[in-house]
Order: sequence, then structure tokens, then C-alpha cells
Amino acid sequence: MYNYKCALTGSTRNLVCHHLNGWNAYPNQRFDVTNGVVVTREVHSKFHIAYKFGNNTQAQFQNFCGLQYTIDWFSLKKIYLNFNEKTI
Ligand SMILES: [Zn+2]
Repeated sequence: MYNYKCALTGSTRNLVCHHLNGWNAYPNQRFDVTNGVVVTREVHSKFHIAYKFGNNTQAQFQNFCGLQYTIDWFSLKKIYLNFNEKTI
């Protein structure tokens, strides 16, 4: 879905998958690809330093993107999802 690039920076190095709605609180979304986002290790640490681990939500990620990258996550995600549908 994210083409092996960081969804926020476009970097192709040190990528990890972050679960938008936390693994613990939302077990039904664990394997839902639209609940994951590919980011660099650096972005990922920044997020978890700010919001800690556990009970993380997509709303936190939306906040984080706005504050750190002036990115509107929900709009960006829609673009990624549409792109994905077209390429299937
Ligand atoms: Zn994470």
C-alpha cells in the first residue's frame, strides 16, 4: 500500500510498520492493512516518544502528522487508499 516508502517522508531506509490503532486495544484491526502505516524508524520513535506505547490511536497519528510535518493524515491516507485500489 505504501510502496515500501515512508508515508510521511518518502524515505526508503529503515522502514517499520506502525499500527494506527494500537495492537492491544484494537485486536480486530491487527491484520487490517489500512490500520498500518509505513514510516521510518526515526518517525516511529518520534511518534512513540510523544504518545508513548499502548492504546495509541489514529487520532494521535493525525495530530502528530499535523504538528511535526504539517500533513493532514486522513487526507493523505485517502490518497494512498485510492491509489491502491487503482493499482490492483
Ligand atoms: Zn508504532
